[in-house]
Amino acid sequence: MRRIAALLLLRSCLVLAQPYDLLITGGRLLDGTGNPAIYSDVAIQGGKIAAIGRLRGSPAARTIDAKGKYVCPGFIDMHSHADGGLGSEDRRRRAAPNLVSQGITTVCVNPDGASPWPLSKQRANYERLAIGPNAALLVGHGTVRRLVMKDDYKRPATPAEIAKMRELVRQGMQEKAFGMSAGLEYVPGIWSTTDELIDLVREIVPYGGVYTVHQRSESTDPRWYQPSVDKPGQPTMLDAVEETIRIGAETGATVIWSHAKAMGANYWGSSKAAIRLIDRARARGIDIWTDQYPYNSTGGDGSTVLIPAWAIGDNAFSSARGKAGAKADYASALRRTMEDSGKADKVRTDITHEMARRGGPENIVVFDHPDHGFIGKSLDTLATARGITPVQMALELQYEGYRDRPGGARLRGFSVWEDDVDAIMAQPWNATSTDAAIALPEDGPDTHARYSTAHPRKLRRYGLDRGVISIENAVRSSTSLPAQIMGIRDRGLLREGLAADLVIFDPATVRDKATFSEPHQYAEGIDFVLVNGKFVVESGKLTGALPGVVLTHSR
Ligand SMILES: [Zn+2]
Repeated sequence: MRRIAALLLLRSCLVLAQPYDLLITGGRLLDGTGNPAIYSDVAIQGGKIAAIGRLRGSPAARTIDAKGKYVCPGFIDMHSHADGGLGSEDRRRRAAPNLVSQGITTVCVNPDGASPWPLSKQRANYERLAIGPNAALLVGHGTVRRLVMKDDYKRPATPAEIAKMRELVRQGMQEKAFGMSAGLEYVPGIWSTTDELIDLVREIVPYGGVYTVHQRSESTDPRWYQPSVDKPGQPTMLDAVEETIRIGAETGATVIWSHAKAMGANYWGSSKAAIRLIDRARARGIDIWTDQYPYNSTGGDGSTVLIPAWAIGDNAFSSARGKAGAKADYASALRRTMEDSGKADKVRTDITHEMARRGGPENIVVFDHPDHGFIGKSLDTLATARGITPVQMALELQYEGYRDRPGGARLRGFSVWEDDVDAIMAQPWNATSTDAAIALPEDGPDTHARYSTAHPRKLRRYGLDRGVISIENAVRSSTSLPAQIMGIRDRGLLREGLAADLVIFDPATVRDKATFSEPHQYAEGIDFVLVNGKFVVESGKLTGALPGVVLTHSR
């Protein structure tokens, strides 16, 4: 007995004698709970937070003076498209510069129903290659649906098919996934019924997984809807919220409305009704949450094409210039369509609908067109200058623009109302996400500012400048809140024993620099970022390090 005590004493002496790997002194700690900042030092050892308190003068291999700075947990990105980049052979991509530079230390990948398969292979691949941020994996509902239904997915699944899908979902959960993602506005999720989803979500519940969903609609109707082609009465965003609530109610699962928003000028203000639905559902005990990126323009807004695909014979419907080949001449194709008065009316109907969905003509801006005088102007401004309607202006952009580009111009809509962004952000159940992939500057301008600076933008614009959310809660919504929703137990808070994923930022300088014309500009004021105790950002510079781990979900 005495010998054991002596050994223990010896052991603790040895531990004490060992200097910390890193000591952060003099900073103000925002611990991730949403509590106001306290002055405290943080010591890191072996990739973990070893101590928090008055530690100045303790032996440490390195000390950082964080005077005037905030020290907080690393940001956990609830809805990330980093999965492709993390699996890249290019180590620069795997370092995820656009993500770690904004303070992201963990990404929840495989969103919108799409995952590699099997997840065990994805995990092994990341571990073999090494990755910058940590990754939490999700089972993709669309992936599972395709594996079972093959190319015959444009219909509800049969009970036998659902049984097979359930097996695959269970397999993914046994491979330590954090839950299942769905993309119900996309192929093949569009054709799944609520009952199919309920059956599959039931499989994740015993494992404590989440169901996170890109809902069937984010507006007055789904993104694929064209009034001249499709049946009316398609689901609205509010219908979709009710579906997510029903799935939560019937399964008992934690459910997440991904990248929550109310798109379209005719739908602005609808966040209020959605918030009311969620509050009431939560009051009934349904475990529903949201995540959100802090912008009034969406990913799809960046490739706004007002001319319906059917009118220019572009089935692929890609905004990328020249994708249809050098021979594509969309201007001539449109002229031919417009010669038929019946078709011309339908084109105008579809343009009017799409214009509203992208925020209305005053909120659709030209980013590229052969006439450089158009760049930076709204559709409304251009139409007024010519004394024509915005619909006619959309047609003229195609006639006079790039002939090989659907729509003739690169347009961006601003389809989300800032009041709706604010209203959702103010909710205590809303976490921050980027909805971003890993991008390098050479990937070009066809990307979104959120790729580089969603989290710092929330700190600066919505927290420090406008006070839509307190700085404490802005940090909470990027740290402990997503950790708690996703079931990540060892991160998201500054606590002794938790993983040393940390951000040190300067409240005086922190800001988003990325814009829609220059999206690859990294954040300012994010001075240090540590993943598992290793620097991925050091004194404001990217290190290119790959210290991330693939997280293992446990109940
Ligand atoms: Zn999505």
